[in-house]
Amino acid sequence: MVNDVGCEPAYMSSSLISHPSEHSQIDIMEIVIDKKQIQLGMNPSTASGRLVKDILYRFIVDTGNNNCYKCGMMMCRDTFSIEHKTPWLDSDDPLGLYFDLENISFSHGVCNTKAGRKPSKYATEKDRKAAKSLNTQNWKVRNNITRTPQQRNEEYKRRKARQENIMLM
Ligand SMILES: [Zn+2]
Repeated sequence: MVNDVGCEPAYMSSSLISHPSEHSQIDIMEIVIDKKQIQLGMNPSTASGRLVKDILYRFIVDTGNNNCYKCGMMMCRDTFSIEHKTPWLDSDDPLGLYFDLENISFSHGVCNTKAGRKPSKYATEKDRKAAKSLNTQNWKVRNNITRTPQQRNEEYKRRKARQENIMLM
């Protein structure tokens, strides 16, 4: 899948997956991370995230999109958030809606969170927890998730390490 500027969407790109084959490569990577962390005074992925947000906010202002999609008031660098106009969570097509740029807008973090909170449809907290647990179980069955928490944790760590390597390239 290629978009209109001829790039593969990042989340589908196979180049995001690196396979360090030797330990020496990992050692070198650790030294580079260390040096960057020392010079930046923060975790390089934190710095990268902050920079991406700065750049994004500048584009939002430059394109006149700095009014909240929800309340219409002006937003600033520290109050804006990425808003999915149609909520992706628990939808029929979570992945599609999540990455659909036509579905993206910007709103105050507070307005965004408020909109996501629906009045409870359960009589008691116990009912709500039971329903949530059932939902989670059904979701796992639908998505064929059979790994143990430990396996998931290991995979999460591997994925995180890969992502940090990518951001430093
Ligand atoms: Zn707002």
